[in-house]
Amino acid sequence: MQTCSQCQTTCSDEAILCPTCQAELSTYSVHAQALKKLQANPRVTAIRIAVSYDACPVCREAQGVYPKDAVPSLPVPGCSHANGCHCSYEPILSEIYP
Ligand SMILES: [Zn+2]
Ligand SMILES: [Zn+2]
Repeated sequence: MQTCSQCQTTCSDEAILCPTCQAELSTYSVHAQALKKLQANPRVTAIRIAVSYDACPVCREAQGVYPKDAVPSLPVPGCSHANGCHCSYEPILSEIYP
């Protein structure tokens, strides 16, 4: 499942462009925008791909912690889940010492 960050339309995992506003989902999906924000945040040291409990084997494989500049895009390519990929990005934050 992808969601367009421009018009909130839900699109299939295979969609390249938002069917409503034609935004390029590789840049304007909610996932892509979230990733960009995390990458721009200096407190975020790494990014984790979190999968849902019923994730397909491909997504389970993608689960894990990635360096900020080498994070795979979501939805996970090749996801075979019936309702689409439900993976999400989670930040790994640097510890703040007082
Ligand atoms: Zn859109
Ligand atoms: Zn999947």
